[in-house]
Amino acid sequence: MCGIVGVIGHKDASKLAYLGLCALQHRGEESSGIVSYDGKNIRSHKGMGLVSDVFNEKVLRPLRGYMAAGHVRYSTTGSSVSKNIQPFLVNHKRGHIAIAHNGNLTNTAELRQALEEKGSIFQSTMDSEVIVHLLAKSGKTDIKEKAAEAFLQLKGAYSLVLMVDDVLIGARDPYGFRPLCLGKFDGAYVLASESCALDLIRAEYIREIEPGEVVFIKKNNIEFLKPFAQSKHAACIFEYIYFSRPDSNIFGQNVYFTRKRLGCQLAVEHPVDCDIVMPVPDSGNYAAMGYSEKSGIPLETGLIRNHYVGRTFIQPSQEIRDFRVRIKLNAIKDVLKGKRVAVVEDSIVRGTTSRSRVRTLREAGAKEIHMLVSCPPLISPCYYGIDFPTKKELIASNHSIERIRDFIGLDSLRYLSLEGMLKAMPLASNEFCTACFNGKYPTAIPKKFSKSHLERRR
Ligand code: 5GP
Ligand code: MG
Repeated sequence: MCGIVGVIGHKDASKLAYLGLCALQHRGEESSGIVSYDGKNIRSHKGMGLVSDVFNEKVLRPLRGYMAAGHVRYSTTGSSVSKNIQPFLVNHKRGHIAIAHNGNLTNTAELRQALEEKGSIFQSTMDSEVIVHLLAKSGKTDIKEKAAEAFLQLKGAYSLVLMVDDVLIGARDPYGFRPLCLGKFDGAYVLASESCALDLIRAEYIREIEPGEVVFIKKNNIEFLKPFAQSKHAACIFEYIYFSRPDSNIFGQNVYFTRKRLGCQLAVEHPVDCDIVMPVPDSGNYAAMGYSEKSGIPLETGLIRNHYVGRTFIQPSQEIRDFRVRIKLNAIKDVLKGKRVAVVEDSIVRGTTSRSRVRTLREAGAKEIHMLVSCPPLISPCYYGIDFPTKKELIASNHSIERIRDFIGLDSLRYLSLEGMLKAMPLASNEFCTACFNGKYPTAIPKKFSKSHLERRR
């Protein structure tokens, strides 16, 4: 998973890209980078860590120009090396290409092999580099034809921001797995994964780039192209459930209200006899609000999150059980003592953090703990960019709900139904990819890909 941003037509393009990345930090904490172009020189700065670790006034100042692209990358278990930090930039004899990619291509292995046989030399292990080679190799001269030719060869999920010489390009694959929206600020155009990035810089939200749509922006001239044959749409439903920020509009619709509706639907499907409703913060907050509103059970805060600890805290020398979970969340004992608690969680992936949190609630004196999950059991890995574990690690793929309940240490465990989840969504059910819940992948997954994907995950 990643966050991307592009800016063109503003003298402080890289600063705006930086602010956009700050707003998109939740989409990737592993690394970040910005490329800028001033009409003559292309420059980049990239590093491991949070946007605020990688960038400061001093490194932003030289990133001059009216055009910039930025990227934040999500930590995955494999290949977290600095040569894989995006945007990926190449200078070639006719100019330059920079790319920021969110998603996962499923035919990289085939494309890469074909390119290498024709003499291409790859610098990284990133999917995105394949796109650069396809563009650089194209015999076409018109940028629109060149881009269409390259994109038509790609399979899988991609929302892209590209800088090809003096043109800023934004693109979404024909299925529209990942979001990408367009905004305007002070005469400049801005592309961003989520609208919260536009809000931060006070850019006006224009609209979502449509699935299969490519936008070309040069100076003040903007053109839209749809090079693909009509396709089924497959927006990632997990963006609404967990991934995107609640203050964003993605796929054209608000995330906050969607999460609240998921909670309402959960209350309709699974009423519980409890004294209080509480979320697992922060991701469960909005579904918990919906659950409380619909059920009439009062909403309380039973866990407080410490927002100041990053990933780099020092472990105590003597082992403290659940330290990593406890440093992030602490229970309010006076809220929980003797209470029957309905805990709302957005999703259960491995079940291990939930288990620790439930232990914390028990230690704080909760009498009964009933967990309500605002999506169905996650049973299949994602090949389109969400960093879900392999089937083996997804607890619901090989354990019954009863076994999961027992493992986490709950009095009861209920999941929202697939139909209920779809009902709460702001788009029609045939607009979504729900593969992680039902194993129905909207595109063919080449065997080669799923194998390499699994290896990468180990
Ligand atoms: P588990 O109990 O399965 O170990 O963890 C569940 C928690 O992980 C939930 O609170 C949920 O918000 C969070 N979560 C869901 N999907 C993801 C993801 O893709 N990445 C990360 N880091 N956390 C996730
Ligand atoms: Mg969570």
